Amino acid sequence: MAQDSAALAASDAPATELTDGFHLLIDALKLNGVETIYNVPGIPITDLGRYAQGEGLRVLSFRHEQSAGYAAAAAGFLTKKPGVCMTVSAPGFLNGLTALAHANVNCWPMILISGSSEREVVDLMKGDYEELDQLAIAKPLCKAAYRILHAEDIGIGVARAIRAAVTGRPGGVYLDVPGALLGQTMDAIEGRKSLIQVVDPAPAHFPGPDAVQRALTVMKEAKKPLIILGKGAAYAQADDQVRQLVETLGFPFLPMSMAKGLLPDTHPQCASAARSLVLKEADCVFLIGARLNWLLGHGKGKQWGEPHSKKFVQIDIDPKEMDSNQPIHAPLVGDIESCCTALLEGMGDAWTKPSVDWTGAVSAKVEGNVAKMASRLHNNSNPMDYHAALGVLKQAIADRPDAILVNEGANALDLTRSVVDIHKPRKRVDVGTWGIMGVGMGNAIAAAVETGCPVLAVEGDSAFGFCGMEVETICRYNLPICIVIMNNNGIYRGDDVNRSGGADPATTVFVPDSRYEMMMQAFGGVGVYARTPDELNRAVAEAMDGGKPTLINAVIDPAAGKESGNIGSLNPTSVVAEMRAKAKAQSQ
Ligand code: ADP
Ligand code: MG
Repeated sequence: MAQDSAALAASDAPATELTDGFHLLIDALKLNGVETIYNVPGIPITDLGRYAQGEGLRVLSFRHEQSAGYAAAAAGFLTKKPGVCMTVSAPGFLNGLTALAHANVNCWPMILISGSSEREVVDLMKGDYEELDQLAIAKPLCKAAYRILHAEDIGIGVARAIRAAVTGRPGGVYLDVPGALLGQTMDAIEGRKSLIQVVDPAPAHFPGPDAVQRALTVMKEAKKPLIILGKGAAYAQADDQVRQLVETLGFPFLPMSMAKGLLPDTHPQCASAARSLVLKEADCVFLIGARLNWLLGHGKGKQWGEPHSKKFVQIDIDPKEMDSNQPIHAPLVGDIESCCTALLEGMGDAWTKPSVDWTGAVSAKVEGNVAKMASRLHNNSNPMDYHAALGVLKQAIADRPDAILVNEGANALDLTRSVVDIHKPRKRVDVGTWGIMGVGMGNAIAAAVETGCPVLAVEGDSAFGFCGMEVETICRYNLPICIVIMNNNGIYRGDDVNRSGGADPATTVFVPDSRYEMMMQAFGGVGVYARTPDELNRAVAEAMDGGKPTLINAVIDPAAGKESGNIGSLNPTSVVAEMRAKAKAQSQ
């Protein structure tokens, strides 16, 4: 009797509206401004992608998680908001993890959301489908890692991930989403209440007034000051403040590769073409969002004119960055915008720019080197060398300063970076701090999707091979991407030989004269085989102005290119050779 009346009461009651883990996760992301997810579908997140698309998010499916992850990382750099990548469990997660670590090393905000197996099975190692303790593996490789076990915690999990990614020094965050969580249900009203819209996720950090004065004093005393702009300054989107500070100080500046365009490379204070001179001669170096890591020779050695007594001033949002390689005489801990503004205020109207003895010497060096380079860029060699091809690409970007240049490879990277001027902020996305190969297609897709601007991806033939299948993704979404493959038949060069005399090709060479352009044609895009600067020029113009997915196979002399590009000195063999030479010299 009692049972019957309870059953009756339940059937009379209005049905509670339910929601589930899928929808709570999507709602939480949307509530925090996420608009795009870079993903590869599969168990257990296939429906998550479908529902997210249904709820108005843009869900882009890639052919490999690594490219999806690289796209999310680049999106973080370009937008100052976390780029979101979504993968399946174990292998998909591991594929995405390289990109998460890359985002973290680059100080870019990214969230990797991976489906995972059930805790009960994973923790007892019972052998589940794609069983892996993903949270434990992710932790040492990212800024923060969280797992959500209950639907009512999804709001908190997403809020923590968003805040961790963008606050302070930005970085990569891992969010572990067990399959069972997605299917959990709860009351829809309670569910909505459990979501959090993060307030002020990346609060401003103001430098102290004494730190500002100290920095100004050091810079005032300098006779040969230099500014180095890093990708942190590009990321900060404080373009006006950075430009105003650099111009008011009047120091020559060197942009790191992804800071190119923050002030145009053609700016009268740009010292890129006098890099050796300024690094060696400067007595005071002001780092703005750039680390003194390997990319700057750790601030020591021959290129810095060691032994040196240079004074360093550094703006960085991470206090731990200070003194990491060299003593920092005037650390400015804070965000780029607040620090630049405080310095400008502190300088007032009475700032004296450095003497023309210094700035004039730098300009003269720049002019000489630019003129020397110009003649190399207009050669009509057949087959093309890198400079002939890059002369064309330099002009293509000068004519279209809104286009984004994506770049990877060894020689294709080093030479493009030094030849192709960038004219606006965040218009160059490349291999980043690790110098990763295979980021090109992910970078290009994110650049096109996030900005709507045309993209020119200059790729070494080897680098392209790591992510080439994404040309299908580019065609599927009909993105305005023009890929130029600098095809010299191999890694570094295409003419190496097998030292054993055996039948196998050398370890660094590919099939000669590969027809990469046909890959693009296979998916309905435009493929062009270009042997001369004229052919390259025509194809690039058509692609950049027409916006159709295009792959240009630029045939480069297999003998062009040097071992490891500009970083051959990092090869252990070079170190061994140098030691042998030293020992020989000493014994004589
Ligand atoms: P590059 O390789 O171009 O020299 P790095 O990646 O080495 O640049 O350095 C970027 C630096 O910028 C990092 O140390 C990071 O902490 C810092 N950074 C990132 N965002 C900001 C910001 N908004 N304000 C201040 N510093 C920032
Ligand atoms: Mg090559």
